[in-house]
Amino acid sequence: MENVTKDTVIKGTAVVPGVRYAKAVWISPRPELPQAGEVVDEAQREAELERFITAADAVAARLLDRSSKAQGAAAEVLKATAGMVSDRGWRKAVRKGIQGGHPAEYAVVAATTKFVTMFEAAGGVMAERTTDLRDIRDRVIAELRGEPEPGLPDVEGPVVLFADDLSPADTAALNTDLFVGLVTELGGPTSHTAIIARQLNVPCIVAVGAKLKDIKAGEPVLVDGSLGTVTLGSDPEVAKLAEQESKMLAERIAQWRGPAQTKDGHRVQLLANVQDGKAARIAATESQAEGIGLFRTEMCFLTATEEPSVEEQAAVYKKVLEQFPHSKVVVRSLDAGSDKPVAFASMADEMNPALGVRGLRVARANEDLLTRQLDAIALAAKELGRDENSPTWVMAPMVATAREAKWFAGLCAERNLTAGAMIEVPAASLMADKLMPYLDFVSIGTNDLTQYTMAADRMSPQLAYLTDPWQPAVLRLISHTCKEGKRFNTAVGVCGEAAADPLLACVLTGLGVNSLSAASTAIAGVGAQLAAVDLETCQKAAEAALDAEGATEARAAVRAVIQPS
Ligand code: PEP
Ligand code: MG
Repeated sequence: MENVTKDTVIKGTAVVPGVRYAKAVWISPRPELPQAGEVVDEAQREAELERFITAADAVAARLLDRSSKAQGAAAEVLKATAGMVSDRGWRKAVRKGIQGGHPAEYAVVAATTKFVTMFEAAGGVMAERTTDLRDIRDRVIAELRGEPEPGLPDVEGPVVLFADDLSPADTAALNTDLFVGLVTELGGPTSHTAIIARQLNVPCIVAVGAKLKDIKAGEPVLVDGSLGTVTLGSDPEVAKLAEQESKMLAERIAQWRGPAQTKDGHRVQLLANVQDGKAARIAATESQAEGIGLFRTEMCFLTATEEPSVEEQAAVYKKVLEQFPHSKVVVRSLDAGSDKPVAFASMADEMNPALGVRGLRVARANEDLLTRQLDAIALAAKELGRDENSPTWVMAPMVATAREAKWFAGLCAERNLTAGAMIEVPAASLMADKLMPYLDFVSIGTNDLTQYTMAADRMSPQLAYLTDPWQPAVLRLISHTCKEGKRFNTAVGVCGEAAADPLLACVLTGLGVNSLSAASTAIAGVGAQLAAVDLETCQKAAEAALDAEGATEARAAVRAVIQPS
């Protein structure tokens, strides 16, 4: 493996933008895990169980205490972690181990491994929760041994915190005056670390890989949360200047107010991507979003074992709709399957789930599942008295053919719902002229459109160079979709991660996209960038990107036309 030397740049997944220059500090070590082998005498097992319960209760109480002193998402994460230590299923598995003769420490390891394996098999969002499980395991083991709690070290700051993976509890307790940046070896953009880092607005990079381990505590590092890079051996003067510029940009972004438009007044609607009522509330109260551009309904049901009734679903959807009572909300019908398993709407054991029965395809064999969801959306909108001033749009994921678009639009029309389709399968873009006559709008899902255009699994860290929405092949499909949108007078939005990248947002605007939907936290950065350019510059940037040889060249070509604001 390549060594990390001076002037080395290592790359991970960018989560929260911002440049910081400070010394690296590593998180306090996790306890050594005990091995199997030791057997506790039968007479001692009851006492061993008591010892476990006391330790687990102490850990839960400490987390709850911290939760009561924290706020917002941080408080909720700490409470949820405390809840996991008290989880009946997990405690029962530990109890069984102790009753079977294992010492408490080993019983904790075995029970946790069982749950981690289960969560990893479920994949997707569930797999990302395994960090929480390992964290409670380590805290309880340290408590059982009377060792200090693993986690954040005592520092005088400012420092950049390095970790294999941060536990939610550590991230939630973070003092951002001391810990000015976060870098993790593992984790993903939707892990708890990433969620809290966004809330705390601390520059953050995840999934750097094993190379991170070569960076020693005390080494000065330049962390760029927009590029996802950690640089060693930077000139301190240059690094400090970069840090200052990034802070100035952050201030300009904080001051930006919508609605979004380019310097010469070309309007672009900026909307939020949400997965539940809580995220919608944050979008409504803490961002400049004009509405919701993507409500991922499947995320509400990841843990549901049975399909909720129409009324139950309507209650869930109302929580999102009511946050934007006077604006557009785009609800996506269930996108179950592949990396988002929904127990009541996913195929079991497909050979290739990303190319399998997911999204709208699930409804082909079970139309009632879709019509009940559409009924629930219509019911929620009706009960809230929504009308043309607060339009409720519905779109289907994974549409590939005009026939599918027609079928979905027909079901929506029966319920007076405005129908759209996601353009995330290349075929849907290429056949846009055949789909659009049936639809009121389309929304381009660049995450999947990139995955399917480049034939590269969006979950694969090795293929990140391909799963990049700057790939000109993807931009050409978007360009084609926009041209057809203009011809058929069909609104074209983008709701994939591409919409969160300020420079790419200019390219998309230049291509003719009417609305951009992204995580709430990304909206101001996009708005501030659009305000700094005129439409003609966006169009020139778009031409340059379309004509580039690859994603890297496209970025460079656009940077030559547009300086980051
Ligand atoms: C997309 O594919 O770009 C998209 C927005 O949908 P999801 O990420 O939920 O698959
Ligand atoms: Mg998608």
